[in-house]
Amino acid sequence: MNATTKPSNAPEKQVAAQFIDRNGKAIAALNDSIFYFGELGMQEFETSRLMCDLLEEGGFTVERGIAGFPTGFCATFGSGGPVVAIHTEYDANPDNSQKAGVVEPACIVEGAPGHCEGHNVNGAVLVTAALAAQRAMSEFGLQGTLKVFGAPAEEQLVSRPYFVRDGWFDDVDVAIAPHIGAEFGVGYGLIQSALISAVFTFHGESAHAGVAPWKGRDALDAVVLMDAGMAQYREHMTKTMSAQRVITRGGDQPNVVPRIASIWWYFRDTSAEGATKLFERAKKIAEGAALMSDTTCEVEVLSAVWPVRGNQTLAELIQHEYEAVGAPAWTPEEDALARALQEKARVKVEGLRSTVHRMTGPAVQKPAANDAGDVSWKAPMAKVYYPANIPNINYHHWAAGVALATPIAHKGAAAGAKVVANAVLECFINPAVVEEAKRTFARETEGVQFRSMLPADQKPPVSLNADTMARYRDAMRPHYISEKPRFE
Ligand SMILES: [Zn+2]
Repeated sequence: MNATTKPSNAPEKQVAAQFIDRNGKAIAALNDSIFYFGELGMQEFETSRLMCDLLEEGGFTVERGIAGFPTGFCATFGSGGPVVAIHTEYDANPDNSQKAGVVEPACIVEGAPGHCEGHNVNGAVLVTAALAAQRAMSEFGLQGTLKVFGAPAEEQLVSRPYFVRDGWFDDVDVAIAPHIGAEFGVGYGLIQSALISAVFTFHGESAHAGVAPWKGRDALDAVVLMDAGMAQYREHMTKTMSAQRVITRGGDQPNVVPRIASIWWYFRDTSAEGATKLFERAKKIAEGAALMSDTTCEVEVLSAVWPVRGNQTLAELIQHEYEAVGAPAWTPEEDALARALQEKARVKVEGLRSTVHRMTGPAVQKPAANDAGDVSWKAPMAKVYYPANIPNINYHHWAAGVALATPIAHKGAAAGAKVVANAVLECFINPAVVEEAKRTFARETEGVQFRSMLPADQKPPVSLNADTMARYRDAMRPHYISEKPRFE
């Protein structure tokens, strides 16, 4: 960063920090509310309602149900340029119900969904940062527009490619995406991978499996044959490609030849082009499977996302704000909980981190994907990791749920929100940063033509996870916290 783009420690940022410091109780209540809602992707009704209500009460204009997503939203404050977007996800995972603060596997509700990554904390950071920035924008009469996007179903990589395809990011100058981690850390260059999520459904003909199986055309055979074909093809994939699947429909009982069967695939590669190549190959394998089993195949793309990239100018801004805010100060009790958990989960025992990770060069690209990918090719973006979970614990494992409704998450949420609010405010105080980010972004993406990989007419899969959520919601409701978050 040069002298004109060097971030300041402006009084606007102090107003935001004071707002966050005096609202510790509300942040905790918001964080814990989302934790106990434990809502799966596309079913985040309680979560998004609470977040939207708080943003509305805080002075934002909220559009609910954007781009055909009932649990997605866009909250806006301010006017004119620059337009700064902050966005994140708040969905839970299946069979991840875990009691907070308990250092052993312990479901809140047996088999129910729950937060074992920390998207509940993301939700708290998003709302808190937005409200804090809004206070400072109002108080100092800052020029610019803050847009706050609620992005459903990140775990299925679903919503943001649709938001981008449908034009919701067309006027956005820079974007900031907070995500939970075990320490402050930001990167630039390619950070995560591209992914295409598609369901292959085979259609055959039912028959009595014992008496006249020759009359049937077995859709499950097609699924098995496609899986076998993909297994053979794995040897010929490039080193960066990978594919994972689950069989979501495989028949009802053994004496009926299954008429319909489905297999759901994730195709990953380091680039959108590579993921597309892998998907095209998988479609050929599916055609072969259909031919062999005398069935027909129908392919539905649920989502398709470009790899998340980080803009260097924004990454440098975030690094500055990390150092200005500093890592949370953990108590001996919090550190002891972390150590006990690390021991129990048989990972390296090191307690909590109070360091800020230093950027030393471009990021190392990970095989994980995030639906924010498309946003990061549309506008300069920073993915902001903040410390609110325990180091070395793997996400989606029971142990990753333990800290998420404890002071570790609450303090991490406050620290993450300060960094995000500061970065937002810097863009309004000093629009030269935005111009510099756009300039470096143009250079970084030179020669790449961003094109949404989503089919143009593809509609959001709104019924995703509806059955599972309906099965557990009544049993989960008694665990909701009664305290309503109130920001002042
Ligand atoms: Zn995540």
